[in-house]
Amino acid sequence: MKITPISSWLPRHSHSNSPLVIAGPCSAESMEQVLTTAYALKNIPEVKIFRAGIWKPRTRPNNFEGLGEIALPWLAEVKKQTGLLTTTEVATAKHVELCLEHGVDILWIGARTTANPFSVQEIADALKGVDIPVMIKNPINADLQLWIGALERMNNAGLTKLIAIHRGFSVADKLEFRNDPLWRIPMELKVKFPELPLLCDPSHITGERELVQKVCQKAIDLNMNGLIIETHPDPNKAWSDAAQQITPEKLKVILSEISLKTEHSTNADFGLQLSIFRGQIDRLDNELLHILKLRTDIVEKIALAKSEQNITALQRSRFDHLMKERLEAGKTLGLEESFIKEIFDSIHEQSVKLQTDHFESKKKN
Ligand code: PEP
Ligand code: MN
Repeated sequence: MKITPISSWLPRHSHSNSPLVIAGPCSAESMEQVLTTAYALKNIPEVKIFRAGIWKPRTRPNNFEGLGEIALPWLAEVKKQTGLLTTTEVATAKHVELCLEHGVDILWIGARTTANPFSVQEIADALKGVDIPVMIKNPINADLQLWIGALERMNNAGLTKLIAIHRGFSVADKLEFRNDPLWRIPMELKVKFPELPLLCDPSHITGERELVQKVCQKAIDLNMNGLIIETHPDPNKAWSDAAQQITPEKLKVILSEISLKTEHSTNADFGLQLSIFRGQIDRLDNELLHILKLRTDIVEKIALAKSEQNITALQRSRFDHLMKERLEAGKTLGLEESFIKEIFDSIHEQSVKLQTDHFESKKKN
C-alpha cells in the first residue's frame, strides 16, 4: 500500500509527541451546536480536526438519520471561524460529490459501509483523481481482510492519504463495551502496514462516556497514532449516541491525564508485540476449550453406551495404549514428555470420573 504520511498534509507542532485528536459531535444538529462545539475544541491544542455526522447510518429506521446536505455549509463555517479541518462520513457517490462541492477536508467511511465492497468501490470510483484524505473505520464484523480490502480499493483509486480507524466490532454477547475492541485485529493491521496511521475511536468502542478515558489510554499504550472522540456541548441532549459523548471540557481533562509514551519508545513496540502474541494465545486457548468440550460430549456418549452394556468405566489396556500413542505424537511435535503425560493423565482422570458419575446416577434412578 502506498501511504502519504499525515505529517506531510497536516501541520503539527514539531516539538509535541501528543496524539492526533479528532473531535466533534456524533451528528450535526444545528449551526449553533456545531459552532459552539468547534469553538470549545479550538482551545484544545491536540484537536486538529472537527468531526460531525451528516448522514447517519442507523440500525433501526425512524431514528434520527442526520440532517443531510443543509449541514454541509456549517462545516465550512467551522473551518472559516476556527481553522479546524473538517470531516464527515460518506456512504455513497452522491455524499462524496456533495462533500467535495462544500470543501469538506477529510472523508470517513463508516463501519457498516466498510463491510460492503460494492459501496466501498462506489466511493473509490467517485474519488478517482481527487487528492483528499480518507479515513476507513473497521468493518462492523471482525474481518481484517475486509478492512484491508477497503483500504486497498481507495489506494487503487489513487488515494494515498489514508488513515485506519479502530472502532471495535459488533458481537452477539456484549461484555464490557458496546463494541468489542478485539485489540489483536488493529494490531495485526499495524504490523502488516506499519506506515498506515491508525486511530482509535473510544466513543464507539465503549458506548459509554465513563469508559472513554480508559480506552483512550489503552490505545495510546498500544502506540496508536491518535483518537477520534465524540464531543457535544450537552451530551445528554444529543440526537444520536448520547450515552457516549463527552463535553469538550471533559475531553480536555482526559487528554491532559493520558500518559504518553516517549517517542521511539521500545516499550511501545514491546507492548504491540505482546498484545499480538496474547491475542494469538487467547484464540488458541479458546480452541482448546472447544475441543475439550467436544471431547467431553463424546465421553458422555461412551458412558451411556458402556452403562447400557454394563462395561466398566476404566479399561486399563485402552488407557495404556492411548497414553503410549499420545506420548509418541507429542514427541514427534517436540513437546516435552512429562508435560504431555500430565495433560493426558488429567484428561483421562476426568473421563473416568464422568463415566463413574454416570454409573452412579444410573444406580440411583
Ligand atoms: C460515527 O462515527 O458516528 C459512526 C456512525 O461510526 P461507526 O461507523 O463506527 O459506527
Ligand atoms: Mn456516533
